[in-house]
Amino acid sequence: MEDALEPEKKRTRGLGTTTKIATSRPRAPVLTTVPPTQGQTAAPKVPKKTGPRCSTAVATVLKNQKPGPAVPAQKPGTAAAPPMVGGKKPGKRPAWDLKGQLCDLNAELKCCRERTQMLAQENQQLRDQLREAQQQATALGAERRVLEEELVRVRTQAEQGQQELGNLSARVLELEERLGTQEGLVQELQKEQLGLQEERRGLAARLEEQERRLQGSEAALLGSQAEVASLQQKTAAQEALLAERDERLHGLEMERRRLHNQLQELKGNIRVFCRVRPVLPGESTPPPGFLLFPPGPGGPSDPPTRLSLSRSDERRGTLSGAPAPTTRHDFSFDRVFPPGSGQDEVFEEISMLVQSALDGYPVCIFAYGQTGSGKTFTMEGGPGGDTQMEGLIPRALRHLFSVAQELSGQGWTYSFVASYVEIYNETVRDLLATGTRKGQAGECEIRRAGPGSEELTVTNARYVPVSCEKEVEALLHLAHQNRAVARTAQNERSSRSHSVFQLQISGEHTGRGLQCGAPLSLVDLAGSERLDPGLALGPGERERLRETQAINSSLSTLGLVIMALSNKESHVPYRNSKLTYLLQNSLGGSAKMLMFVNISPLEENVSESLNSLRFASKVRSLPIPALSGLLVVVGFSILTLCPSGQGGHSSRKDLHLPGIWSTTYLDPFFFFLIIGFWVF
Ligand code: ADP
Ligand code: MG
Repeated sequence: MEDALEPEKKRTRGLGTTTKIATSRPRAPVLTTVPPTQGQTAAPKVPKKTGPRCSTAVATVLKNQKPGPAVPAQKPGTAAAPPMVGGKKPGKRPAWDLKGQLCDLNAELKCCRERTQMLAQENQQLRDQLREAQQQATALGAERRVLEEELVRVRTQAEQGQQELGNLSARVLELEERLGTQEGLVQELQKEQLGLQEERRGLAARLEEQERRLQGSEAALLGSQAEVASLQQKTAAQEALLAERDERLHGLEMERRRLHNQLQELKGNIRVFCRVRPVLPGESTPPPGFLLFPPGPGGPSDPPTRLSLSRSDERRGTLSGAPAPTTRHDFSFDRVFPPGSGQDEVFEEISMLVQSALDGYPVCIFAYGQTGSGKTFTMEGGPGGDTQMEGLIPRALRHLFSVAQELSGQGWTYSFVASYVEIYNETVRDLLATGTRKGQAGECEIRRAGPGSEELTVTNARYVPVSCEKEVEALLHLAHQNRAVARTAQNERSSRSHSVFQLQISGEHTGRGLQCGAPLSLVDLAGSERLDPGLALGPGERERLRETQAINSSLSTLGLVIMALSNKESHVPYRNSKLTYLLQNSLGGSAKMLMFVNISPLEENVSESLNSLRFASKVRSLPIPALSGLLVVVGFSILTLCPSGQGGHSSRKDLHLPGIWSTTYLDPFFFFLIIGFWVF
């Protein structure tokens, strides 16, 4: 392009000289120079005098028009020689030849005029040429700009093309690389394909084999399907049978509960057992015959129910001088456990009551007696963690857990929540307290669980859900520790306070929408001994007197409550002591109560033993065993026929099923039969 433009540039530059334009641009009008012939033609006409002057003017014009080597340079000041006329150089006119001189000057003037006219024409031509050249220059400038723009565009395109070329080269390289990889892959795949083809052949062979076996299996399946259909029929029949049996089992369980309760009520809703502890090492052996256990009506194989205690009357002995006579005191209880009776033997007798608690009846077991008579041993067990020595509480709970487990097979789910409190001087303390609350008293109060609720709760006391023996063991251990803390503060406080272990039992049969629940209370009562009246009343003794009064008051309230319940009195003085207030839901109604009267085998404790036995006898002699047992049957019959379960524990109504109503009608018949027998 640049090369193409070059001639144009040169052309533009060369515009200043007319000669060059004339030579380089043939189309431009040819510049007229002084025709060489003109001088020659004019010369002859010019007189000799004008020749040299005209020749000088033409030479000057020519000099201006055609500079260059073609015209030889002349010295300034020297005019060109006048044209030679006829080869003869015109000579200078003499001064007198004025006419000649005028003639020469006229000729020269004419020549100059012609020349001026010619130059004016030439000038005009040159102007035209210049205009044309300027137009051409403008056109060329526009053309140049277009071309420059074109050049820029072409350059940009060239750059883009270059870049694209670079990209394409990179892409080509990349594609070549990929191609190489793909080729490798293809080779691998080909290899794999070969392997797969091999495998496919193997699989095809196996498939054939499997198909053969499948055909065999299908034949067997057809046989099995027929068998399954027959088994399904059998299963459906068995399921129906099972449901029917389940229904019957449930009916029987309800019946068992009802009969179990009837049996317990026939035995008495208030029962009294007497337990005599063995003589401990270091204690003086009592005289023979001091304590006797006459056999029951069925002979020595019968468990004893009677006990006789001999007391020598010292005063009568000294008066007569004869050996002091002895007075025999006979007592009769529901069961008497002589010193050799083991913990398991004792528990066996009460396990039925534990079953009642699971069936939804409140159960309350007390241990009554003087300090050191074996109450704690009976309730909690002996020291050392010997399982043989375990008391009623761990045994009862183990029994509960195992029976609950058995009943889970019948659809029952049980949960147990334990609490353990101590009532000392009419203040309640949590024996399961932990952390900073340990050893603190007085902040626990007995309250109703909610407005209108029958349930009682001890504020600030821990209620711990338990589900296994280990958890119960841990609770008993904690209670033992808490008691030990208190003991350092107040001497032997544990024997001066009532310990109440309560277990709230809740059972649910979700399948049948049944519920039952009852508290099981195990109470280790405070020592029942009286205060020695001859004791001097120091500050310690005064405190002791206050304690004893509180204990006596609560124990006599317990006796009064039991009496009021037995006599079905309208007012039962539960509120007279914290103990009876706390236990009110475990006493009365369909509740089962058992009192252990623990006595010492030592002669020196005879007085306290007699007191305990008398108290227990009073409890037992309440109109319970025979007639009240029958009345209980009648009461129970009425209760079971009464849909609202009036008079019984609220959970009782849950146990009513239409299936057991037929059996309840037998009760009045049973009642009249026994009444007739009894009257006869
Ligand atoms: P309490 O609680 O009535 O004050 P304890 O239960 O503490 O009396 O018994 C006092 C002592 O007698 C304890 O050392 C206890 O181990 C022991 N003891 C009580 N009953 C028996 C028994 N049946 N067999 C063996 N030792 C007993
Ligand atoms: Mg004790």
